[in-house]
Amino acid sequence: MWEPEAESRPREALEQQTLDGLRRTLGHVLTRPAWRRRLGDAAPGDIRGPADWARLPFLTKDDLRDAYPFGLAGADPERIARVHMSSGTTGNPVVNPFTRADVEQWGAVMARCYAAAGVGARDVIQITPSFGLFTGGFGFHYGAERIGAMVVPIGAGRTSLQLQLMRDLGTTVLAGISTYPLRILEVAREEGFDLGALRLRVAILGSEMWSDDLRRLIERELSMTTFDILGMTETGGPGLGIDCAAHAGIHVWEDHYFCEVVDPETERPRADGEEGELVVSTLTREGLPLIRYRTRDLTRVVSRAPCACGRTHLRLDRLRGRTDDMVIFRGVNFYPRQIESLLLKQPGVGHEYQIVLDRAPGGSDRLALLVEAREGFVETGLPRLRQELREVLNLSPEITLLAPGALPRPPGKAVRVVDRRQVVE
Ligand code: ZN
Repeated sequence: MWEPEAESRPREALEQQTLDGLRRTLGHVLTRPAWRRRLGDAAPGDIRGPADWARLPFLTKDDLRDAYPFGLAGADPERIARVHMSSGTTGNPVVNPFTRADVEQWGAVMARCYAAAGVGARDVIQITPSFGLFTGGFGFHYGAERIGAMVVPIGAGRTSLQLQLMRDLGTTVLAGISTYPLRILEVAREEGFDLGALRLRVAILGSEMWSDDLRRLIERELSMTTFDILGMTETGGPGLGIDCAAHAGIHVWEDHYFCEVVDPETERPRADGEEGELVVSTLTREGLPLIRYRTRDLTRVVSRAPCACGRTHLRLDRLRGRTDDMVIFRGVNFYPRQIESLLLKQPGVGHEYQIVLDRAPGGSDRLALLVEAREGFVETGLPRLRQELREVLNLSPEITLLAPGALPRPPGKAVRVVDRRQVVE
């Protein structure tokens, strides 16, 4: 462990620390007029436990967009050392202003994450998310410097060069977006690159939902152990938590973040073990303190008991999708990950896919599934794929088979669902 005392603190002490942190965050934001308007007459002294906290209003992504750029900042511009932001494909980006202390906090939680993944000073860490406004690159970088590893801060893209450097510099740890290893595998295949020449042993991946099946594929094909890291621009980048060597859930650093799981529709708390939307409050962030931020990510509390690794911080399940990517098609609800899991089990089908929804001129909804398949799949695999989609998910999409490599590979997150049903023609 990087900070053994903090990471293995007994639950009772941890919960007291959380309560103190919640009160501190509330007291801090109440010094800001925009927050006072949001929170009315709330007072730190009224917070005696999670039930009191649950009476405070949620903060949404739209609230943060509307507050662009510094409307809900917790510090004045002269104390802001840096800004990061989410890509604003629609509307304003969400800006997270970091104070000097926030940059330090980020390095500290990232160092813990590396230690949880068994990464240390002797490792060579290749950082493949971009360095820039996106939070990925820098977070991995600060943590890597803290633990004293050798850093290869290459950033995003240039996969041929990535492979060459991995081999020539003896990279042992890959830090990246969760689908990036798939791109690495593709380029290696295209170029006849010998993956056996690599010394990779660990990958720390996050930022996109990735199914257990995809995880197994990556571990098998690249002969490494993967660790699932949590965090987003709003919470201060990657470092909210990570799974440990026990792979029994993702430890969330409870001395920095308070997590709730709520029913996305009724907004009531979900019992431990039940799936719901992750809601995050920050205990130590200054530039953008969060009070009950609705992440739209779906997960559940796996356990609050001490883990086999010795850490006591609560464990969440790996993210299972987002509240806004649930697809409803003719009354059937499904998540893209369910289709992904089915596809990855079919021999002859690639890992890229796209779900396209549109509305026929007559008004009925249509569902198409685009997949990349090797020659011969029509006869050998297609009937089985159709049958499994029908039996497991109750779906009968039109399936279009494409040549391997035909679907677009965007540089950032993959586009799994294209919904054209709302377009008025
Ligand atoms: Zn553990």
